Amino acid sequence: TVVSYLPGAAPAVTTLESEIRRIFDLQRETALRLRTSTAEERIAKIKRLHDAVMAHREAFYEAAYQDFKKPPAEVDLAEVLPVISEAKHAMRSLKKWMKPQHVWPTSLTIGLKSWVQYEPKGRCLIISPWNYNVNLCFSPLVSCIAAGNTAILKPSEMTPHLSALMAKIIKEIFPPDEVALFEGDVSVATALLALPFDHIFFTGSPAVGKIVMAAAAKHLASVTLELGGKSPTIIDADADIKLAARTLMWGKYTNNGQTCIAPDYVYVHASVKDAFVKECIAVIESCYGKTAAEQMQSPYLARVVNERHTQRIHNLLADAQQRGARVLCGGAVSEKDCFIQPTLLDNIPADAKIQSEEIFGPLLPIIPYTDLDRVIDEINAQPKPLALYIWSKTEANIEKTLKRTSAGGTCINHCVVQYAHGRLPFGGVNNSGIGSAHGIYGFKAFSHERAVVRTRFMMARTLFPPYTNFKRKLLDL
Ligand code: NAD
Repeated sequence: TVVSYLPGAAPAVTTLESEIRRIFDLQRETALRLRTSTAEERIAKIKRLHDAVMAHREAFYEAAYQDFKKPPAEVDLAEVLPVISEAKHAMRSLKKWMKPQHVWPTSLTIGLKSWVQYEPKGRCLIISPWNYNVNLCFSPLVSCIAAGNTAILKPSEMTPHLSALMAKIIKEIFPPDEVALFEGDVSVATALLALPFDHIFFTGSPAVGKIVMAAAAKHLASVTLELGGKSPTIIDADADIKLAARTLMWGKYTNNGQTCIAPDYVYVHASVKDAFVKECIAVIESCYGKTAAEQMQSPYLARVVNERHTQRIHNLLADAQQRGARVLCGGAVSEKDCFIQPTLLDNIPADAKIQSEEIFGPLLPIIPYTDLDRVIDEINAQPKPLALYIWSKTEANIEKTLKRTSAGGTCINHCVVQYAHGRLPFGGVNNSGIGSAHGIYGFKAFSHERAVVRTRFMMARTLFPPYTNFKRKLLDL
C-alpha cells in the first residue's frame, strides 16, 4: 500500500497499482496541455530541478556514502555535474532546439513549404539503474521536460538512500501530474511497464532492456534503451604507456568498476604488456594504497553495491582462477564488507565466465596480443559494445579499429570521457542500446519529429489527372 500525495487532497491509502494508474491518468490532461508549453515554461522547470540538485549536494554525498561508500568527489563528478551540465545546456539551447526546421522542396513538392516540427511525445517513463541512479534518472528528465512531456520516474531500488532523496526532491519541486516518482523494485517497474506510455527511456542491463522492449511493444511505445555489456580496450605497441595506465585505471576504478562504459577487458600488445601492467599497479597503489587493508580504508574507492553483487564478482574471480587465470595484483575479497580489491588478471582461458559476462566490478582481464586483425575479429564475434577504447600513436591502427568495429562510442588515448561531452550523442548499438541521450539527442529522443507540408498557393496541376504525357515528363524520373 502507498499513501497518495496529491496536493490539497486528503491522503488516501491505496494499492500501489491503483496509485500508479491514478497518477498516470492524471498526467494525461497535463500532457495535452504541455503540448503548447513555451520554451520559457520548460526552462523554468529545468531550472527548478537544477537548483534543487545543487541545493542537495551535501545530502547526495551522504546518501551515496550510505549506499556504497561512494566518494563525494565521484558524486560531484558523476551524479551532480552531469545533471547540472545537461540542465544548463538545455536551458541555453532549448529555444533553438524547439524551432521548426525548414526543409527544401523536392521536384515533386515545388511550391510547397515544408518543415519538421518537434512535438512532445506525451507521457514518458524513465527507469534508471543503481550505479549512477541520480544522473541516469535526472539527466533524461531534463531532456523529457525540455521536449514538453510529463514523466514518471522509477529509480533503482539498489541504492535506497539515493532513491529516497530523489523521491523527496521530486515531490518538493513538481506536482505529480507533471513529474512523479515511484520508488521500488521489479514489481513497481512491472506495474509501470503495463501502462501505455508514449515513450520509455530505460537505462540498465541488456537482459532487462529486452523485457522493457517487449512491454513497450504491447502498446507500440517508442523506446530509448541505454544498456551495457563488455567494453573492449586495446593498448597498441606504441601507446603512451604512462598515459594509458593512468587514464585507464581512472576509468576502470571510478565507482569501483561499476560503470556501464568502464573498460571491461584489455588487449595489450605483447611487447608492452609487462611495462603496462607495472604502470597500472603503480597507479592503483598511488590512488588507493598498496595493501588490501589500505585499499579497504581508502576514501577514494567505492564499495561493491551489495553482498549479492560482491558474491557474483567473487564467483567470476574464483571461476577464472580455477581455470588457470593468474592474479597480477589484488585478488582479496571480503564479501561481508562488499569489498573486492582492484584486481588485474592474466592467462584467462576462453571458457572462463569472466570472458562472457559483463564484469561490472573491479576485476580487469589483461590479454596479450600480437595481431590487431585477430583482436578486431574477436571483438566482432561479441555483441556490439557500448564503448571501445584504443590507446595508440599509429593512425592506421586507430583508423582500422574505428572502421572495422562497431560500438556505441569510442575514445582514442582516453576512456569514459565520451559520456561527459554533452554535445555528443550517448548511446549503444543493438545489444548495448537503441537511441541516444544528451543535449539535442536527448531532446529528440523525447520528441516526435512531425513532418508538416503547407500549400502557399494553388499548385500547377501536375499531380492530378488527366495524366498527360507532358505531365509525366515533368516528373523527371
Ligand atoms: P538492471 O537492468 O538490473 O536494473 C535497471 C532498472 O530496471 C532498475 O530500476 C530495476 O529496478 C529495473 N528492473 C530490474 N529488473 C526488472 C524487470 N524484470 N522488469 C522491469 N524492470 C526491472 O541494471 P542495474 O543492475 O541497475 O545496472 C547495471 C546495468 O546497467 C549494467 O548492465 C550497466 O552496463 C547498465 N548501465 C547502462 C548505462 C548506459 O548509459 N548505457 C548506464 C549505467 C548502467
